[in-house]
Amino acid sequence: HNASHWSVQKKKKTSCDRALDHFDEFYSQIFAKDWPSIRHGLLSKQKYIAVVNNFSDADQTKSNLEKIGALNIRTLFQLQKQYISDNYEKLRQKYNLKRIWKSGEETKVESIRNDIVQNAKQSHSLEHNLSQAEIDFTRVIAAQDVSYLNLTEFMPVTKLKGNEDWIAEPKHVDDYKGSDFSPKTSREFDFHFPENLNVYCYEVGNHNDFSPPINGTTGVLNYYLMDGGSLLPVLALDVKPGDKILDMCAAPGGKSYLILQTLYPDQLISNDVTKSRTNRVHNVMKQYLYDLEEKWLNQNKLRISLMDARDIHEGDFDKIIVDVPCTTDRHSVKETENNIFRPDRIKERLKLPELQTELLVQAIKLVKIGGNVVYSTCSLSPIQNDGVVHLALKQIWEETDIQITIKDLNVALLQADKIYKFADQKLMKYGHLIVPNLQINFGPTYFCKMQRIK
Ligand code: SAM
Repeated sequence: HNASHWSVQKKKKTSCDRALDHFDEFYSQIFAKDWPSIRHGLLSKQKYIAVVNNFSDADQTKSNLEKIGALNIRTLFQLQKQYISDNYEKLRQKYNLKRIWKSGEETKVESIRNDIVQNAKQSHSLEHNLSQAEIDFTRVIAAQDVSYLNLTEFMPVTKLKGNEDWIAEPKHVDDYKGSDFSPKTSREFDFHFPENLNVYCYEVGNHNDFSPPINGTTGVLNYYLMDGGSLLPVLALDVKPGDKILDMCAAPGGKSYLILQTLYPDQLISNDVTKSRTNRVHNVMKQYLYDLEEKWLNQNKLRISLMDARDIHEGDFDKIIVDVPCTTDRHSVKETENNIFRPDRIKERLKLPELQTELLVQAIKLVKIGGNVVYSTCSLSPIQNDGVVHLALKQIWEETDIQITIKDLNVALLQADKIYKFADQKLMKYGHLIVPNLQINFGPTYFCKMQRIK
């Protein structure tokens, strides 16, 4: 008998296996009955959006994309918004939401939910989707009211500071005991979709691929393909004409590209921490911005900066996006190369929440009063998401006079509800989480919008 025979040898665990084991254990407790479908999405082919390049042949590109059946996301948002505002009173009355909210009749909410589940058969066509808007609208509103009724602080938090052996993702839900700190929130009702930003996707359930981008008459590429999750953090940033913007962790440059395609900012600083990463930003910009040196870099409209973002101490920024390094969940279950679950990267992985918090704290200190900060990750981990937002705000509250308001985007996000799948809002305290799913396989993307008010 040969004990080392292949059939009796244990299969060696890859970093992807390790990541998946970890997620199975941790996320199944967070997402419960939704975890199997999120998991399935994570392991399957992800869905892309095509962001039209205004510096190539934009009109031609748009009509080509429409010819192959892609849909302009701005139009989808507008249709949904129109439907909601036309029917707001009717919808609200029909389900008597106010009464439920005030008297806390959970059983009523439960029966509405059952209703919704019965009706909400996943649909593949746009028209049918729109006719489902009423149901979905109610679901979101109902879910919101319930979450406000039984607001639970589910967030697990470990000692993050100065302690090597704190564990990465504790299993048990433990709230922030012993803190008076409770940040203000205010609700936003609308998203402004920049008129020059043209982003295309295929309808729900359509898994076609976009063909790779091609060069147009100006010698730059016609569109940029990225995970659809990336769009919402940038919309949440609410870029306005004349803004000075900092993208703290910019490489490879997807979100910087989106920001530039609004045609709004006066100046964008795209920063990253290593030369190889800023080179990637440079390469992307060279492929997409016509006459990069003369028209962009020399005129200071775009600066590609190489710094540890925690050391950026100057610049009066209107908007800052902090798209931090994280466990990159989708990448971690699929790609062995550069995997953060590699045994030799454990320390780095365990330190992520600390680094993320420091980056967000720095952003909050750097942004102008009245300006916005959007924090985002591509992880499902509540520690790296709401947990980091909480830690950063707590630190700001303890150490400075700065005041921050969290923006509750639930109502504004109804516009996106047709093409994005969000995690149950009851799981979130601050931000919003796009979860992978087989029908709409974007994300994961977590984002939280904050405004500095003092
Ligand atoms: N925003 C990018 C996009 O949309 O294409 C993706 C950013 S990626 C999730 C995170 C980036 O953070 C990496 O490129 C990494 O090099 C960078 N990073 C890590 N630590 C950093 C630090 N201390 N300061 C600035 N950037 C950092």
